[in-house]
Amino acid sequence: MSNQPTQEKKEELDFLGRTRFEFRRAVQFINAKVKPTEEGMVDYIEQPFRQSSVRFPVYMDDGSIKVFTGYRVHHSRLFEPTKGGIRYSPDVDLNMINALAFEMTLKCFVVDLPYGGAKGGVCCDPKKMSRPELDRLTRRYTYEIMPMIGPDLDVPAPDIGTSEREMGIIYDTYMMFNPNVPYASAVVTGKPLSIGGSKGRKEATAQGGAFVLEEAVGKRRVNGLASLKGATVIVQGFGNVGFNIANILHENYQCRIVGICDSRGGIYSKKGFDPKDVLNYKAQSPNRSVVGYNELEPKNAKQMLTSACDILVPAAKENQLIGSFAKDIKAKVVLELANGPTSNLAHEILVDKGVYILPDILANVGGVTVSYFEWLQNKAGESWDLNTVRDKLRIKMTTAYGGTVDTAEKYNLDMRRAAFVFATNKMLEVASCRGIFP
Ligand code: NAD
Repeated sequence: MSNQPTQEKKEELDFLGRTRFEFRRAVQFINAKVKPTEEGMVDYIEQPFRQSSVRFPVYMDDGSIKVFTGYRVHHSRLFEPTKGGIRYSPDVDLNMINALAFEMTLKCFVVDLPYGGAKGGVCCDPKKMSRPELDRLTRRYTYEIMPMIGPDLDVPAPDIGTSEREMGIIYDTYMMFNPNVPYASAVVTGKPLSIGGSKGRKEATAQGGAFVLEEAVGKRRVNGLASLKGATVIVQGFGNVGFNIANILHENYQCRIVGICDSRGGIYSKKGFDPKDVLNYKAQSPNRSVVGYNELEPKNAKQMLTSACDILVPAAKENQLIGSFAKDIKAKVVLELANGPTSNLAHEILVDKGVYILPDILANVGGVTVSYFEWLQNKAGESWDLNTVRDKLRIKMTTAYGGTVDTAEKYNLDMRRAAFVFATNKMLEVASCRGIFP
């Protein structure tokens, strides 16, 4: 019974516990409303089927040797290959990677990609390491997880702390050891364009989120927001996803980006920012932060997240919107581009307040979707133009949004619960169709 959802888990800051809680709640719902599933099958698809933890040494620039711990988790083999990003961050541990791998499975089912979920990471602080140190770490980590990755086995991609540079190094290292594998560039996505990356991948997570927001606000006018034009937006996190969503909403939808923050603090202005200017400032600032832009007074995380806006976009990391201040959040819509940014209690408070939450397993699937497109292009030896990528992404995102909204309306659920029910129902269906070997 320990797996059954309980009320005590409402303010659950353990991301894995929270994901399993939501999944179990969805299973209970499906058992009651659709059809019951054998508990053993539920247990099988809930837990990761393969996980690895590796320790490895890396030479630092000063000649010392530092030992790092890395992970790779394959969550689901309902479809293979598995797929999921690689995170470099000081708080990476097996629990976090397991939660992210589980979420990847759910996301692939929400958007109908034929992948199982996976995730990897290394416990390290990339902000305190030099470029050559990070390159050596990436090569050695790739070597350590090599038995677990491959174009038809498991395909990594970027996440927090990694970028197309690391993906290029993973590809090169894999090629050194596997020169005869056909279509080997499909071993990793989010690569530089020159070695088989896809157009539109860098901004894909943000672009996918913008398409979902357009459906919710532009077409369905949720919470009385009639148009994205002029809507005020606060973005938390100003890395790949945060910068791109701010830029896309500013340039393509004429939103007013009134707040931007990163790990050092935030800036707010009713007049709004041009995200490209803020990015240029950040690139030149000694702290590599948005703090100090236009000499605006810096704000802390809670001040930023509770400042006035129509749309709040958490695009940093997990557990940022929490119960202790959720009631003070003023946004009408939350677009979760980060993974797991909202605690259960905060979610409940926000839903009770009438805030419309576009949940992570729907809102941020643009990244894995264009990664799938990159993988298809690599396998076919093709290179699609940007419009083709965008058009296909829009279709995938609007279909996923439509399926989640239909589930929400049919069963009177909020969007997060609907997305979990939508994905879990499909997982159970695939598991049932495949049966158990032998
Ligand atoms: P990134 O490393 O490029 O950027 C992370 C940003 O968050 C940085 O600006 C950092 O300063 C900021 N940040 C960190 N801690 C913060 C805090 N406590 N408060 C405010 N800002 C903070 O990472 P990314 O690739 O942009 O990923 C951001 C989020 O989006 C993560 O949750 C990631 O899992 C999720 N995501 C990324 C992708 C992708 O394609 N990169 C896909 C799906 C989901």
